[in-house]
Amino acid sequence: MPIRKIVYYPDPILLRPTEPVDEIDDSIRTLVADMIETAYAAPGVGLAANQVGVGLRLTVIDLSVGEAPDQLRVLINPRILEERGRQVEEEGCLSVPGFTAPVARPSWVRVEATDLDGKRHEIVSEGLMARAICHELDHLDGRLYLHRLSSLKRERLKKRIDRAIEQGEWARI
Ligand SMILES: [Zn+2]
Repeated sequence: MPIRKIVYYPDPILLRPTEPVDEIDDSIRTLVADMIETAYAAPGVGLAANQVGVGLRLTVIDLSVGEAPDQLRVLINPRILEERGRQVEEEGCLSVPGFTAPVARPSWVRVEATDLDGKRHEIVSEGLMARAICHELDHLDGRLYLHRLSSLKRERLKKRIDRAIEQGEWARI
């Protein structure tokens, strides 16, 4: 399966809400297989479809990055049903390479999503998995972790990113 090109901030597709997946057909199955391959190659624990330039509401998450096959989750049309608690941890993003920042997230979430077989599931998660799900669902809503920072911290980080882009440090694939 081919590795797809990861879209970097500030590409507008990252800042637009994605569209629901209507039907799980071969194009969706191919997209998911490519996204898994792309996430593993990066490497990253999760990837949203709009990060490879496809504006559809689907994401893949694997905290083991390919080491433990049972950890792979494909979330199609995911939706948060309930969230609890708060955790603050350093967070990065494949679309904002080379930067991280402490981001507050719920420590526990309950979501529902469709899998590749078209079955709707409820998934309860905490800790890192809850963080990864919230990060990816933000992508699908057209938001990056930058938007979760205070405006002062966001502006400061954006300036550093703009400088890195201008100076060509932001390696383009
Ligand atoms: Zn991300």
